[in-house]
Amino acid sequence: MAKLSPALKQATPVVVDHALGSWIYGTDGIGYLDFTTGIGVTSTGHCHPKVVEAAREQVGKIIHAQYTTVMHTPLLELTEKLGEVLPAGLDSVFYANSGSEAVEAAIRLARMATGRPNIVVFQGGFHGRTVAAASLTTAGTKFSAGFSPLMSGVHMAPFPYAYRYGLDETAAVEFALRELDYLFKTRTAPNDTAALLIEPALGDGGYLPTPPTFMEGLRERADQYGIKLIFDEVQAGVGRTGKFWGHQHSTATPDILITAKGIASGFPISAIGASTETMSKAWPGSQGGTYGGNAVAAAAGVATLDVVEKEGLVENARARGEQLQAGLKSVQERFPVIGDVRGLGLMQGIEFTAANGNPDADTAAAVQQETTRQQLLTLTCGPAGNVVRLIPALVVTEDEITLGVERFEAAVAAVVAAVAVGTS
Ligand code: PMP
Repeated sequence: MAKLSPALKQATPVVVDHALGSWIYGTDGIGYLDFTTGIGVTSTGHCHPKVVEAAREQVGKIIHAQYTTVMHTPLLELTEKLGEVLPAGLDSVFYANSGSEAVEAAIRLARMATGRPNIVVFQGGFHGRTVAAASLTTAGTKFSAGFSPLMSGVHMAPFPYAYRYGLDETAAVEFALRELDYLFKTRTAPNDTAALLIEPALGDGGYLPTPPTFMEGLRERADQYGIKLIFDEVQAGVGRTGKFWGHQHSTATPDILITAKGIASGFPISAIGASTETMSKAWPGSQGGTYGGNAVAAAAGVATLDVVEKEGLVENARARGEQLQAGLKSVQERFPVIGDVRGLGLMQGIEFTAANGNPDADTAAAVQQETTRQQLLTLTCGPAGNVVRLIPALVVTEDEITLGVERFEAAVAAVVAAVAVGTS
Protein backbone atom coordinates (compact mmCIF):
# COMPACT_ATOMS: atom_id res chain seq x y z
CA MET A 1 0.00 0.00 0.00
CA ALA A 2 1.41 3.42 -0.95
CA LYS A 3 1.38 6.39 1.36
CA LEU A 4 2.46 9.99 1.11
CA SER A 5 6.19 10.64 1.24
CA PRO A 6 7.54 11.69 4.64
CA ALA A 7 9.49 14.34 2.69
CA LEU A 8 6.19 16.24 2.56
CA LYS A 9 5.74 18.14 5.81
CA GLN A 10 2.28 19.38 6.78
CA ALA A 11 1.76 22.36 9.08
CA THR A 12 -1.63 21.24 10.42
CA PRO A 13 -3.42 17.90 10.87
CA VAL A 14 -6.49 19.19 8.98
CA VAL A 15 -7.97 17.05 6.21
CA VAL A 16 -10.17 19.33 4.11
CA ASP A 17 -13.68 18.44 3.07
CA HIS A 18 -14.62 21.73 1.43
CA ALA A 19 -13.96 25.46 1.73
CA LEU A 20 -15.61 28.79 1.07
CA GLY A 21 -14.27 32.34 1.36
CA SER A 22 -12.07 32.56 4.46
CA TRP A 23 -13.21 29.19 5.82
CA ILE A 24 -11.91 25.65 5.47
CA TYR A 25 -14.19 22.84 6.67
CA GLY A 26 -12.40 19.71 7.79
CA THR A 27 -13.58 16.12 7.49
CA ASP A 28 -13.75 16.43 11.30
CA GLY A 29 -16.76 18.73 10.76
CA ILE A 30 -14.87 21.75 12.15
CA GLY A 31 -14.82 25.14 10.39
CA TYR A 32 -11.34 26.71 10.48
CA LEU A 33 -10.72 30.39 9.84
CA ASP A 34 -8.06 30.16 7.15
CA PHE A 35 -5.27 32.72 7.54
CA THR A 36 -2.93 30.69 5.29
CA THR A 37 -4.85 30.81 1.97
CA GLY A 38 -2.72 27.97 0.63
CA ILE A 39 0.44 30.09 1.22
CA GLY A 40 -1.06 33.28 -0.17
CA VAL A 41 -2.77 31.74 -3.18
CA THR A 42 -6.56 31.88 -2.77
CA SER A 43 -6.66 35.64 -3.17
CA THR A 44 -10.41 35.86 -3.82
CA GLY A 45 -11.09 33.39 -1.02
CA HIS A 46 -11.81 29.71 -1.41
CA CYS A 47 -14.13 28.82 -4.29
CA HIS A 48 -15.24 32.34 -5.16
CA PRO A 49 -18.46 31.78 -7.18
CA LYS A 50 -17.18 33.81 -10.17
CA VAL A 51 -13.90 31.89 -10.30
CA VAL A 52 -15.73 28.56 -9.93
CA GLU A 53 -18.12 29.51 -12.72
CA ALA A 54 -15.33 30.59 -15.09
CA ALA A 55 -13.37 27.38 -14.47
CA ARG A 56 -16.46 25.17 -14.86
CA GLU A 57 -17.36 26.82 -18.13
CA GLN A 58 -13.82 26.44 -19.47
CA VAL A 59 -13.58 22.77 -18.47
CA GLY A 60 -16.53 22.11 -20.79
CA LYS A 61 -14.83 23.90 -23.71
CA ILE A 62 -11.22 22.74 -23.65
CA ILE A 63 -9.01 21.82 -20.71
CA HIS A 64 -5.56 21.50 -22.24
CA ALA A 65 -5.03 23.77 -25.23
CA GLN A 66 -1.27 23.22 -25.34
CA TYR A 67 0.18 26.69 -25.90
CA THR A 68 3.15 25.83 -28.06
CA THR A 69 0.78 23.93 -30.35
CA VAL A 70 -2.40 26.06 -30.39
CA MET A 71 -3.44 29.31 -28.75
CA HIS A 72 -6.57 29.74 -26.63
CA THR A 73 -8.74 32.75 -25.79
CA PRO A 74 -8.44 32.61 -21.96
CA LEU A 75 -4.67 33.17 -22.25
CA LEU A 76 -5.16 36.07 -24.67
CA GLU A 77 -7.76 37.58 -22.31
CA LEU A 78 -5.52 37.07 -19.28
CA THR A 79 -2.64 38.77 -21.11
CA GLU A 80 -4.88 41.72 -21.92
CA LYS A 81 -6.02 41.95 -18.28
CA LEU A 82 -2.48 41.66 -16.94
CA GLY A 83 -1.49 44.39 -19.39
CA GLU A 84 -3.85 46.73 -17.53
CA VAL A 85 -2.03 46.22 -14.24
CA LEU A 86 1.59 45.52 -15.20
CA PRO A 87 4.00 48.46 -14.78
CA ALA A 88 4.30 50.68 -17.85
CA GLY A 89 6.64 49.23 -20.47
CA LEU A 90 6.21 45.60 -19.37
CA ASP A 91 4.09 44.73 -22.37
CA SER A 92 5.16 41.14 -23.06
CA VAL A 93 4.10 38.15 -20.95
CA PHE A 94 5.27 34.55 -20.75
CA TYR A 95 3.37 31.89 -18.80
CA ALA A 96 4.41 28.84 -16.78
CA ASN A 97 2.77 26.80 -14.00
CA SER A 98 4.48 27.57 -10.71
CA GLY A 99 6.39 30.35 -9.05
CA SER A 100 9.66 28.40 -9.30
CA GLU A 101 9.27 27.90 -13.03
CA ALA A 102 8.54 31.58 -13.54
CA VAL A 103 11.62 32.49 -11.49
CA GLU A 104 13.69 30.22 -13.71
CA ALA A 105 12.13 31.78 -16.81
CA ALA A 106 13.03 35.23 -15.47
CA ILE A 107 16.69 34.42 -14.82
CA ARG A 108 16.98 32.59 -18.13
CA LEU A 109 15.63 35.71 -19.82
CA ALA A 110 17.92 38.07 -17.86
CA ARG A 111 20.98 36.01 -18.78
CA MET A 112 19.97 35.82 -22.43
CA ALA A 113 19.06 39.51 -22.64
CA THR A 114 22.33 40.72 -21.07
CA GLY A 115 24.73 37.98 -22.11
CA ARG A 116 25.99 38.03 -18.50
CA PRO A 117 26.19 35.07 -16.11
CA ASN A 118 25.62 36.23 -12.54
CA ILE A 119 22.53 36.82 -10.43
CA VAL A 120 22.57 38.76 -7.16
CA VAL A 121 20.01 37.72 -4.54
CA PHE A 122 19.33 39.17 -1.10
CA GLN A 123 19.73 37.28 2.15
CA GLY A 124 16.48 35.75 3.32
CA GLY A 125 14.91 35.71 -0.14
CA PHE A 126 12.72 32.78 -1.19
CA HIS A 127 12.40 32.03 -4.88
CA GLY A 128 11.34 28.38 -5.07
CA ARG A 129 12.32 24.76 -4.76
CA THR A 130 13.42 23.59 -8.21
CA VAL A 131 17.21 23.33 -8.24
CA ALA A 132 17.87 26.67 -9.95
CA ALA A 133 15.21 28.44 -7.85
CA ALA A 134 16.57 26.79 -4.69
CA SER A 135 20.03 28.05 -5.67
CA LEU A 136 18.59 31.56 -5.55
CA THR A 137 16.85 30.95 -2.22
CA THR A 138 18.49 32.03 1.04
CA ALA A 139 15.42 31.91 3.29
CA GLY A 140 16.84 28.93 5.13
CA THR A 141 19.40 26.22 4.47
CA LYS A 142 16.57 23.65 4.68
CA PHE A 143 15.63 24.71 1.15
CA SER A 144 19.06 23.99 -0.36
CA ALA A 145 20.92 21.60 1.95
CA GLY A 146 21.73 18.05 0.94
CA PHE A 147 21.45 18.17 -2.84
CA SER A 148 24.41 20.26 -3.96
CA PRO A 149 25.92 21.21 -6.35
CA LEU A 150 23.55 24.10 -6.77
CA MET A 151 23.45 26.33 -9.85
CA SER A 152 26.53 28.51 -10.07
CA GLY A 153 26.63 32.24 -10.75
CA VAL A 154 24.53 33.21 -7.72
CA HIS A 155 25.86 35.78 -5.26
CA MET A 156 24.16 37.01 -2.11
CA ALA A 157 24.07 40.52 -0.67
CA PRO A 158 22.59 41.47 2.74
CA PHE A 159 18.91 42.38 3.08
CA PRO A 160 18.17 45.50 5.16
CA TYR A 161 16.68 43.54 8.07
CA ALA A 162 16.59 46.44 10.52
CA TYR A 163 15.14 44.47 13.47
CA ARG A 164 17.79 41.75 13.24
CA TYR A 165 20.71 44.14 12.90
CA GLY A 166 19.35 46.40 15.66
CA LEU A 167 19.47 49.35 13.24
CA ASP A 168 16.84 51.83 12.17
CA GLU A 169 15.54 51.45 8.63
CA THR A 170 17.67 54.23 7.14
CA ALA A 171 20.89 52.81 8.62
CA ALA A 172 19.95 49.27 7.55
CA VAL A 173 19.32 50.41 3.96
CA GLU A 174 22.59 52.36 3.84
CA PHE A 175 24.46 49.33 5.14
CA ALA A 176 22.85 46.91 2.66
CA LEU A 177 23.43 49.18 -0.35
CA ARG A 178 27.04 49.72 0.70
CA GLU A 179 27.53 45.95 0.91
CA LEU A 180 25.96 45.51 -2.53
CA ASP A 181 28.43 48.04 -3.95
CA TYR A 182 31.21 46.12 -2.18
CA LEU A 183 29.96 42.87 -3.76
CA PHE A 184 30.25 44.53 -7.17
CA LYS A 185 33.89 45.31 -6.31
CA THR A 186 34.80 41.98 -4.71
CA ARG A 187 32.76 39.15 -6.23
CA THR A 188 30.58 39.96 -9.24
CA ALA A 189 31.62 42.86 -11.46
CA PRO A 190 28.64 44.81 -12.83
CA ASN A 191 29.58 43.67 -16.34
CA ASP A 192 29.25 40.06 -15.20
CA THR A 193 25.93 40.70 -13.43
CA ALA A 194 22.76 39.88 -15.33
CA ALA A 195 20.18 40.55 -12.64
CA LEU A 196 19.31 41.71 -9.16
CA LEU A 197 16.48 39.51 -7.86
CA ILE A 198 14.38 40.62 -4.89
CA GLU A 199 10.97 40.18 -3.28
CA PRO A 200 9.11 43.45 -2.51
CA ALA A 201 8.48 41.86 0.89
CA LEU A 202 10.40 38.80 2.05
CA GLY A 203 7.90 35.95 2.25
CA ASP A 204 9.20 32.63 3.53
CA GLY A 205 12.26 34.56 4.75
CA GLY A 206 10.27 36.20 7.55
CA TYR A 207 7.51 38.51 6.30
CA LEU A 208 9.69 41.60 6.08
CA PRO A 209 8.64 44.47 3.85
CA THR A 210 11.56 45.57 1.68
CA PRO A 211 12.23 49.24 2.51
CA PRO A 212 11.19 51.46 -0.44
CA THR A 213 14.53 53.30 -0.38
CA PHE A 214 16.32 49.96 -0.82
CA MET A 215 14.18 49.09 -3.85
CA GLU A 216 14.99 52.54 -5.25
CA GLY A 217 18.71 52.05 -4.56
CA LEU A 218 18.59 48.80 -6.53
CA ARG A 219 16.85 50.57 -9.42
CA GLU A 220 19.60 53.21 -9.52
CA ARG A 221 22.32 50.56 -9.66
CA ALA A 222 20.46 48.51 -12.28
CA ASP A 223 20.18 51.62 -14.47
CA GLN A 224 23.80 52.59 -13.90
CA TYR A 225 25.19 49.17 -14.88
CA GLY A 226 22.61 47.85 -17.38
CA ILE A 227 21.59 45.08 -14.95
CA LYS A 228 18.03 43.69 -15.09
CA LEU A 229 16.04 44.36 -11.94
CA ILE A 230 13.69 41.45 -11.24
CA PHE A 231 10.89 41.73 -8.71
CA ASP A 232 9.59 38.40 -7.47
CA GLU A 233 5.94 39.29 -6.80
CA VAL A 234 4.91 35.64 -6.43
CA GLN A 235 3.73 36.12 -2.84
CA ALA A 236 3.45 39.92 -2.51
CA GLY A 237 1.58 40.57 -5.76
CA VAL A 238 -2.10 40.77 -6.74
CA GLY A 239 -3.27 43.03 -3.92
CA ARG A 240 -1.74 41.11 -1.03
CA THR A 241 0.16 44.12 0.42
CA GLY A 242 -2.63 46.67 -0.07
CA LYS A 243 -1.27 47.81 -3.46
CA PHE A 244 -1.76 45.76 -6.60
CA TRP A 245 1.97 44.97 -6.70
CA GLY A 246 4.15 44.89 -3.62
CA HIS A 247 6.78 47.08 -5.28
CA GLN A 248 4.26 49.91 -5.61
CA HIS A 249 5.03 50.93 -2.02
CA SER A 250 8.21 52.35 -3.60
CA THR A 251 8.81 54.34 -6.78
CA ALA A 252 11.06 51.61 -8.22
CA THR A 253 9.82 49.58 -11.18
CA PRO A 254 11.19 46.26 -12.43
CA ASP A 255 12.62 45.20 -15.78
CA ILE A 256 11.12 41.77 -15.21
CA LEU A 257 8.18 41.02 -12.91
CA ILE A 258 7.34 37.53 -11.71
CA THR A 259 3.80 36.66 -10.62
CA ALA A 260 2.02 33.44 -9.62
CA LYS A 261 0.03 32.35 -6.52
CA GLY A 262 -2.77 34.97 -6.24
CA ILE A 263 -3.38 35.51 -9.96
CA ALA A 264 -5.71 32.53 -10.39
CA SER A 265 -7.14 31.91 -6.87
CA GLY A 266 -5.60 28.44 -6.61
CA PHE A 267 -5.19 27.24 -10.19
CA PRO A 268 -1.53 26.66 -11.04
CA ILE A 269 -0.41 29.36 -13.40
CA SER A 270 2.49 31.81 -13.25
CA ALA A 271 3.83 34.53 -15.51
CA ILE A 272 6.71 36.86 -16.13
CA GLY A 273 6.27 40.30 -17.64
CA ALA A 274 9.02 42.28 -19.40
CA SER A 275 9.34 44.75 -22.25
CA THR A 276 9.02 43.32 -25.75
CA GLU A 277 12.57 44.57 -26.33
CA THR A 278 13.90 42.46 -23.45
CA MET A 279 11.78 39.42 -24.34
CA SER A 280 12.96 39.65 -27.94
CA LYS A 281 16.55 39.07 -26.84
CA ALA A 282 15.60 35.46 -26.02
CA TRP A 283 15.22 33.25 -29.06
CA PRO A 284 11.74 31.95 -29.95
CA GLY A 285 11.29 28.57 -28.31
CA SER A 286 13.76 29.32 -25.50
CA GLN A 287 10.83 29.30 -23.08
CA GLY A 288 7.92 26.85 -23.13
CA GLY A 289 6.55 23.77 -21.39
CA THR A 290 3.82 21.19 -21.71
CA TYR A 291 1.31 22.62 -19.23
CA GLY A 292 2.18 26.34 -19.14
CA GLY A 293 -0.71 28.79 -19.44
CA ASN A 294 -3.37 26.11 -18.96
CA ALA A 295 -6.77 27.16 -20.33
CA VAL A 296 -8.77 26.45 -17.14
CA ALA A 297 -6.15 28.20 -15.01
CA ALA A 298 -6.11 31.15 -17.41
CA ALA A 299 -9.93 31.42 -17.31
CA ALA A 300 -9.76 31.37 -13.51
CA GLY A 301 -7.07 34.05 -13.75
CA VAL A 302 -9.28 36.31 -15.85
CA ALA A 303 -12.12 35.86 -13.34
CA THR A 304 -9.75 36.48 -10.41
CA LEU A 305 -8.45 39.77 -11.82
CA ASP A 306 -12.05 40.78 -12.54
CA VAL A 307 -13.13 40.04 -8.96
CA VAL A 308 -10.08 41.80 -7.50
CA GLU A 309 -11.01 44.92 -9.48
CA LYS A 310 -14.82 44.87 -9.15
CA GLU A 311 -14.90 43.97 -5.45
CA GLY A 312 -12.20 46.50 -4.53
CA LEU A 313 -10.00 43.81 -3.01
CA VAL A 314 -6.77 45.79 -3.11
CA GLU A 315 -8.40 48.48 -0.98
CA ASN A 316 -9.91 45.81 1.28
CA ALA A 317 -6.46 44.27 1.75
CA ARG A 318 -5.12 47.68 2.78
CA ALA A 319 -7.93 48.43 5.25
CA ARG A 320 -8.16 44.93 6.74
CA GLY A 321 -4.37 44.77 6.87
CA GLU A 322 -4.28 47.93 9.00
CA GLN A 323 -6.93 46.43 11.27
CA LEU A 324 -4.99 43.17 11.53
CA GLN A 325 -1.70 44.88 12.32
CA ALA A 326 -3.32 47.14 14.95
CA GLY A 327 -4.89 44.06 16.59
CA LEU A 328 -1.60 42.16 16.56
CA LYS A 329 0.31 45.12 18.00
CA SER A 330 -2.13 45.24 20.87
CA VAL A 331 -1.55 41.49 21.48
CA GLN A 332 2.20 42.22 21.44
CA GLU A 333 1.73 44.73 24.28
CA ARG A 334 0.38 41.94 26.50
CA PHE A 335 2.93 39.26 25.54
CA PRO A 336 6.65 40.09 25.69
CA VAL A 337 7.45 36.86 23.79
CA ILE A 338 6.38 38.81 20.70
CA GLY A 339 9.42 40.83 19.64
CA ASP A 340 8.12 42.36 16.43
CA VAL A 341 4.89 42.73 14.47
CA ARG A 342 5.29 43.90 10.89
CA GLY A 343 3.94 43.57 7.41
CA LEU A 344 2.06 45.22 4.60
CA GLY A 345 -1.65 44.69 4.00
CA LEU A 346 -2.72 41.09 4.48
CA MET A 347 0.84 39.83 4.79
CA GLN A 348 1.62 40.14 8.50
CA GLY A 349 4.43 38.51 10.47
CA ILE A 350 4.74 38.08 14.24
CA GLU A 351 8.35 37.47 15.28
CA PHE A 352 8.90 35.60 18.56
CA THR A 353 12.02 36.59 20.49
CA ALA A 354 13.45 35.07 23.66
CA ALA A 355 14.33 37.22 26.69
CA ASN A 356 18.01 37.08 25.65
CA GLY A 357 17.14 38.52 22.23
CA ASN A 358 17.56 35.25 20.30
CA PRO A 359 14.94 33.99 17.83
CA ASP A 360 12.36 31.90 19.72
CA ALA A 361 11.38 29.17 17.27
CA ASP A 362 9.90 26.89 19.96
CA THR A 363 7.29 29.43 20.98
CA ALA A 364 6.47 30.30 17.36
CA ALA A 365 5.99 26.60 16.53
CA ALA A 366 3.88 26.02 19.63
CA VAL A 367 1.69 29.05 18.83
CA GLN A 368 1.24 27.90 15.22
CA GLN A 369 0.14 24.46 16.43
CA GLU A 370 -2.14 25.97 19.08
CA THR A 371 -3.89 28.24 16.55
CA THR A 372 -5.21 25.12 14.80
CA ARG A 373 -6.75 24.02 18.11
CA GLN A 374 -8.28 27.51 18.32
CA GLN A 375 -9.69 26.87 14.81
CA LEU A 376 -7.44 29.40 13.12
CA LEU A 377 -5.00 28.17 10.47
CA THR A 378 -1.58 29.87 10.41
CA LEU A 379 1.95 29.13 9.18
CA THR A 380 5.46 29.89 10.37
CA CYS A 381 8.35 31.33 8.34
CA GLY A 382 11.77 32.91 8.72
CA PRO A 383 15.21 31.26 8.56
CA ALA A 384 14.96 30.42 12.27
CA GLY A 385 11.28 29.45 12.04
CA ASN A 386 10.41 32.02 14.73
CA VAL A 387 7.87 34.06 12.75
CA VAL A 388 4.17 33.21 12.58
CA ARG A 389 2.67 34.57 9.39
CA LEU A 390 -0.93 35.51 8.74
CA ILE A 391 -2.10 35.58 5.11
CA PRO A 392 -5.88 36.02 5.03
CA ALA A 393 -7.87 36.05 1.78
CA LEU A 394 -8.29 39.47 0.18
CA VAL A 395 -12.06 39.09 0.72
CA VAL A 396 -11.64 38.79 4.49
CA THR A 397 -14.21 40.80 6.47
CA GLU A 398 -13.80 43.09 9.47
CA ASP A 399 -15.50 40.50 11.71
CA GLU A 400 -13.22 37.72 10.45
CA ILE A 401 -10.12 39.79 11.23
CA THR A 402 -11.48 40.54 14.72
CA LEU A 403 -12.13 36.82 15.26
CA GLY A 404 -8.71 35.90 13.86
CA VAL A 405 -6.92 38.27 16.24
CA GLU A 406 -8.98 36.91 19.18
CA ARG A 407 -8.06 33.34 18.27
CA PHE A 408 -4.41 34.24 17.74
CA GLU A 409 -4.29 35.92 21.15
CA ALA A 410 -5.95 32.88 22.74
CA ALA A 411 -3.27 30.68 21.18
CA VAL A 412 -0.41 32.87 22.45
CA ALA A 413 -2.01 32.98 25.91
CA ALA A 414 -2.36 29.18 25.99
CA VAL A 415 1.28 28.64 25.00
CA VAL A 416 2.61 31.22 27.48
CA ALA A 417 0.46 29.69 30.27
CA ALA A 418 1.69 26.17 29.41
CA VAL A 419 5.32 27.32 29.57
CA ALA A 420 4.63 29.02 32.92
CA VAL A 421 3.36 25.75 34.48
CA GLY A 422 6.04 23.71 32.72
CA THR A 423 3.72 21.56 30.62
CA SER A 424 5.13 22.59 27.29
N1 PMP B 1 8.85 33.15 -5.08
C1 PMP B 1 8.21 33.50 -3.96
C2 PMP B 1 8.35 34.90 -3.46
C3 PMP B 1 7.42 32.58 -3.26
O1 PMP B 1 6.80 32.95 -2.14
C4 PMP B 1 7.31 31.27 -3.76
C5 PMP B 1 6.48 30.21 -3.06
N2 PMP B 1 6.35 30.33 -1.70
C6 PMP B 1 7.99 30.94 -4.95
C7 PMP B 1 8.75 31.91 -5.58
C8 PMP B 1 7.92 29.55 -5.54
O2 PMP B 1 6.64 29.31 -6.00
P1 PMP B 1 6.15 27.80 -6.24
O3 PMP B 1 6.04 27.16 -4.89
O4 PMP B 1 4.82 27.98 -6.93
O5 PMP B 1 7.13 27.14 -7.10
